[in-house]
Amino acid sequence: MKYSLNDLIDVQETRKLLEDFHAAVGVPAAIIDLEGLVLVASRWQRVCTDFHRVDETARKRCTESDTTLANSLLTGKTYSLYRCRNGLLDAASPIIIDGEHLANMFIGQFFTEKPEMDFFRAQAKQFGFDEAEYLRAVAEVPIVAEETLPAILSFLTSFAVIIGSLGLKQLKQVQTEKELRETEKDLKRAQAVAKVGNWRINIPENAIYWSDETYRIFGFPHEKPIDYDAFLASVHPDDRERVDHSWKTALTGQPYDIEHRIIVGDTIKWVHEQALLEFNEAGALRSGFGTVQDITDRKQTEQELLRAKNEWELTFDSVPDLIAILDTRHRIVRANRKMAEKLGIEQEECVGLHCYESVHHADCPPHGCPHSMTIRDGKERTLEVHEESLGGDFLISTTPLYDEQGGMVGTVHVARDITERKSIEKELRRSRDELERRVQERTAELSQALEKLEKMNRELEDFAYIASHDLQEPLRKIQAFGNLIREKCIDKLDKTEQEYFIRIERAAERMRQLIQDLLKLSRIATRPESMRTVDLKEIANEVVQVFDHQSGGNGVIELVDLPTIEADPCQMMQLFQNLIGNALKYQKPGEIPTIKVYGDLSDQNTCRIFVKDNGIGFEERYLEKIFLPFQRLHGRDSQYEGTGMGLAICRKIVEQHGGSITAKSESGNGSSFIVTLPVKHRGPGKDELKK
Ligand code: ADP
Repeated sequence: MKYSLNDLIDVQETRKLLEDFHAAVGVPAAIIDLEGLVLVASRWQRVCTDFHRVDETARKRCTESDTTLANSLLTGKTYSLYRCRNGLLDAASPIIIDGEHLANMFIGQFFTEKPEMDFFRAQAKQFGFDEAEYLRAVAEVPIVAEETLPAILSFLTSFAVIIGSLGLKQLKQVQTEKELRETEKDLKRAQAVAKVGNWRINIPENAIYWSDETYRIFGFPHEKPIDYDAFLASVHPDDRERVDHSWKTALTGQPYDIEHRIIVGDTIKWVHEQALLEFNEAGALRSGFGTVQDITDRKQTEQELLRAKNEWELTFDSVPDLIAILDTRHRIVRANRKMAEKLGIEQEECVGLHCYESVHHADCPPHGCPHSMTIRDGKERTLEVHEESLGGDFLISTTPLYDEQGGMVGTVHVARDITERKSIEKELRRSRDELERRVQERTAELSQALEKLEKMNRELEDFAYIASHDLQEPLRKIQAFGNLIREKCIDKLDKTEQEYFIRIERAAERMRQLIQDLLKLSRIATRPESMRTVDLKEIANEVVQVFDHQSGGNGVIELVDLPTIEADPCQMMQLFQNLIGNALKYQKPGEIPTIKVYGDLSDQNTCRIFVKDNGIGFEERYLEKIFLPFQRLHGRDSQYEGTGMGLAICRKIVEQHGGSITAKSESGNGSSFIVTLPVKHRGPGKDELKK
């Protein structure tokens, strides 16, 4: 504690005392601190105030005197006497309070014997004082016997020390009280932060005092008097009996240390109570002190932890996998229920067992043990193993476990029984192999059948070709002899015979057409021979010119862009002939045929050709039918002649080129035939083609 004498004494009162002393003894006194500050002073001598302190040089000598005296006391002296250069005497003693040199007590000015007046006369002259007045003032200065000076000073100093010490005591008390108040405040703050309150029993008053925090914890208003019954009523009913019993036991000298619930308004709190009770020899309570801590948060955390632990344990035990926590030395730290069941022992009995002994019945870990590998490099492992001793297949996984410092302490070893899955997999593999074998067998059978079919087809096509070819010969004869009859003896036949003859001729002509178409079809069936780059527009143009020539320009055939592709040019010619021929043929009577032939590339590899007319059209439900050989939508008597082979030939050509043909139409509203062909020929190789 830092203080000066000023803080310890009442300056006004002390001055009065010094003045009274001056009046009584005639010696002026002053208290001056170590910095030279005059704290208290009785009246100075007139010779000083009216003369020496007025002239500058003389005043300097005065202060020099104070300083010299004070300095001599700093060296530890208890008394010092000094004659000032103005010829007067001063004496001083240190004021030491509680071991601290705080200030000095000065007395002065005085003489110890009658003054030498000549000296003062000379001084009056030197400073220009009024000599008579100055000498009168000098004469007023008291003469004090030198031997009495220490006693005077000792009296005054002791006096200053006494009042200073009193002041210090008071100051210290004030300070202590202040500190006490601060400490109390701190205590209250600490109690609020720690949620700890306290109470104490005042034995003489037979009363219990609660701290603010205790009131707060219990939620009681401060003014409410606290007695044991009121306290017990606030305890949760389920805990009341336990608390009551514990307190009564504490009153017999047992420790009171209990956790229980209290009801505060609508909430339930947990508190921890501890008490220190002291008894006198007669067994009566001498003092009682207790603490109450609000532990609701801790209890809630504990309960949550407990719940989490229970949930974890339940999960751990209810998973169907075999789980063991292993330490780094392959010992089981914990095993779940399934694992214990598999080992045929209780869960607790698993703890401490070496897994290689209990599971593998070996005296060291087996080769490739995933736990050993994880312990070695800290990496998780998953692998499938067949474990004879556990009678099945297992998917094993090991996950490293670390302590708080990051050191590896073991692994979580999970073994999933995959025996069933494995056997299903095995069965599946067997079934798949069986299926594959059967598919191969079937494929072989099919390819044999296909080969057979292709052979039959080829034979049939050959037969059709040969038959139609051979049929031409007798037909030619029929037609040749028919011509001879027409030339030489048609007139000899009566009308009916002529009619018969004409019908024979027509039938023969029709037969010729049929044979020709059949030949065309079977020729195509021998597949395209000369595949090369063909400008479809050129080919279509040739066909159009032939038709124009035949029809004498009766119709409009518009040719728009057609692509260039790889194809058999003869077959392409045939294709356009049939499609454009049909478009011209199937026209509405009296209407000018308007035909548009165009194409596009639907992508880089495929092109489309459209032949669009404004003819009679057909119902789309016959779409499939019209592409079959000899299928027509018109009777033989209709105005539209034909063999029903044209579109069948078209389809054959298109398919031989790896494409397709279809149409869009509506009866009475024209038709659009759409051919899709690959731009590049992707058909089978030449050898294959010849098969
Ligand atoms: P054909 O023309 O010799 O009868 P196709 O095979 O060329 O034989 O045609 C089969 C049938 O398809 C025809 O009988 C006709 O009914 C129908 N058809 C073909 N092209 C057209 C078309 N452009 N407009 C309407 N019907 C058609």
